[in-house]
Amino acid sequence: MNRIAVLTSGGDAPGMNAAIRAVVRAGSEKEMKMFGVRDGYEGLIAGNVVRLRARDVGGVIQHGGTFLGSARSEEFKTPAGRERALRNLREYNIEALIVIGGNGSQQGAYELSRVGFPVIGIASTIDNDLYGSEVTLGVDTATNIALEAIDRLKVTASSHRRAVLVEVMGRKCGYLALMCGIAGGAETVVIPEVEVRADDVARDILEAYRRGKNHALVVVAEGSDCNASVLKQAFVEHKDLLGFEVRTTILGHVQRGGVPSASDRILAARFGVAAIDEIAKGNHGVLVGIEKGQIVLTPLAEVVSNKKGLDLSLFQMSKLLAT
Ligand code: ATP
Repeated sequence: MNRIAVLTSGGDAPGMNAAIRAVVRAGSEKEMKMFGVRDGYEGLIAGNVVRLRARDVGGVIQHGGTFLGSARSEEFKTPAGRERALRNLREYNIEALIVIGGNGSQQGAYELSRVGFPVIGIASTIDNDLYGSEVTLGVDTATNIALEAIDRLKVTASSHRRAVLVEVMGRKCGYLALMCGIAGGAETVVIPEVEVRADDVARDILEAYRRGKNHALVVVAEGSDCNASVLKQAFVEHKDLLGFEVRTTILGHVQRGGVPSASDRILAARFGVAAIDEIAKGNHGVLVGIEKGQIVLTPLAEVVSNKKGLDLSLFQMSKLLAT
């Protein structure tokens, strides 16, 4: 296969640029003609395809986001939308497509590969909720950015003897919240995987107060039933039961746009080179991920039909250390 396109899809993740760079340079080294699709599957449907040479991906490695653009395309979820995308791939004589993205994006990649188009996925989402890769591209940077904010919030919380409630991203997966909770020294972590009531969180805050702490930190995943706005409302009603005054911060998209960490840049390089190596071998229909430090390939069919679990022993550990 000689004409290869790459796209980034879904939520942007720090390290996507480094992955595009790796794909384009590794492909060019193998004399492949490389192309970029702008704006994810939306651009594929619109035929927004550009030629990418080694020099075109210079100076991007240190930037967050994706210079190709990303999008969420409802049309691509329909057979008609995918047929338009396939027509464009044929029009440009593209022989294989590399999809850098998370769960939804890999579902889209699987749909293309199911109808016979050669696709390789690269595991990239700050949620770290993708089956087939222990860690996904972007999660290390996002965790560190959230952690930096949490550390700052703790400083001011300590000065005023307050509790701070921080909501981090994670629609269905509490990985980011749990890692930030462990690394930030949280009194309580609230994640979608573990059912919790506002009363439980209030009790944890009060206990921290009674133990003589000068602050309490609660880290909440946005997708939890008890997210920041639910807890904030509940705490207004139970103000006298907390000990501390509580301040709430929702980090939101701040977590996405950061400068990719060394770890994410290196992961991006390994993923990009591995994707090209597989295409060169004629292999496709797989996700490139990492397990125990080694690059692994998982069939896209397996990726989309499995759910990645969260190691709940780490949740118990975070509780143990919150004394
Ligand atoms: P993140 O979770 O980091 O935001 P993601 O890849 O999971 O990344 P989604 O918005 O879920 O982000 O999906 C990205 C795009 O993938 C969608 O906008 C859509 O175009 C495509 N996609 C999602 N689900 C499907 C599906 N079932 N079939 C075909 N395409 C899909």
